[in-house]
Amino acid sequence: MPSSSQRLNLRTPEVMLEVQAKVEQHYRSSLVEKVRAQGGLFQQGQTQIYLAKQFGFCYGVERAIDLAYAARKVFPNERLFLVGEIIHNPEVNAQIAALGIQNLLEGGGTAAIDRLQPNDVVILPAFGTEIVMLEKIKARGSRIVDTTCGDVMSVWKRVKQNAFEEVTSIIHGKASHEETKATASRALGTGKGHYLILLNLEETDFVVKYLTQGGDRDQFLNKFQGALSEGFDPELHLARIGVANQTTMLRAETEEVQRRLRSAIEERDGNTNNFRFFDTICGATQERQEALLDLLKRPLDFLLVVGGYNSSNTTHLAEIGEKNLPTYFVRNQECLESLTRLRHYDFHHHQEITLNNDWMIKSPQESISIGITAGASCPNNLIEEVMMRLLDLREGSIGQGLIVPS
Ligand code: SF4
Repeated sequence: MPSSSQRLNLRTPEVMLEVQAKVEQHYRSSLVEKVRAQGGLFQQGQTQIYLAKQFGFCYGVERAIDLAYAARKVFPNERLFLVGEIIHNPEVNAQIAALGIQNLLEGGGTAAIDRLQPNDVVILPAFGTEIVMLEKIKARGSRIVDTTCGDVMSVWKRVKQNAFEEVTSIIHGKASHEETKATASRALGTGKGHYLILLNLEETDFVVKYLTQGGDRDQFLNKFQGALSEGFDPELHLARIGVANQTTMLRAETEEVQRRLRSAIEERDGNTNNFRFFDTICGATQERQEALLDLLKRPLDFLLVVGGYNSSNTTHLAEIGEKNLPTYFVRNQECLESLTRLRHYDFHHHQEITLNNDWMIKSPQESISIGITAGASCPNNLIEEVMMRLLDLREGSIGQGLIVPS
């Protein structure tokens, strides 16, 4: 069996020139770019559509997609694989599959890894992959195209440092999310490290209580089953903690998690010497959340959040939206079936639901203001399609609108 793998750099100027032309053709929208550049308002008849100042593809996602296209260009005849999904957007993943790039984890198993050959090329996704997976691929000797975002790697650096200093990493994130799994695997360091993954404030408060009042060890282990490192003992491994987060969490919640844990350590120890905190929310997530808060200052009738249902940063945008106004989380324009029928994602119950009501809130004769935003994995062409669908439903025609400079 081959024992070493080769990491590839595909970003040469001639490759990127061709790749970017193709990527733009698949995902770009000149209308969306123009509307955004001129202040974000598109108007037709009685319908006003406001776009957030920041939404859609982030730098990490753009780079990952460029690299996947570049891999296909550089290796037109090789077998190309991807570890899971390159990003969390079904339309983009379908395009990647159309390039002949196969999902190595298709069907949820890892059997395909054992059939990898040295000539195969394996693409690692933007959110990275677990160390154990990486080692398996390396052991097959296949060539690797690593699209892991630099912001994710910064989190890894922090949690590795924690492990080195025998500080347990408390990761604010979703235990089932690829990025958090990849980060947790790095939090083990060379074997001395431990981690605990906290999803929300309820779980944080459970840990706070344990830190300040003690508690039942088995109950603790039971509660966090699947979200902590092997051999984790709350009696030992909460002595020194460092908080990090999945890059796409809700910023305000992450700040509250760290504030509550810091206070608990201070109450327990009389100081915060055994507490570390690194803000690892990425810039793109932050900008999109702030831009949405800005958009919500406008008098909107409802908000559409466009993106893949398993996208963490998109879900958090929907969460911000629904605290303020009627919010619909849609995958694409097909979800807007008619003026009285809409499919959207209920992220609280993890299911797509259909509304058979007056979801549009106002009749086509009445003036309406609609806000649109999208997660970091949503391409602009999908936003344009949603805008056009709204106009088609409300105004009976598309393409006659005006971009209104602000
Ligand atoms: S959402 Fe943030 S961490 Fe994730 S790929 Fe984009 S920039 Fe990187």
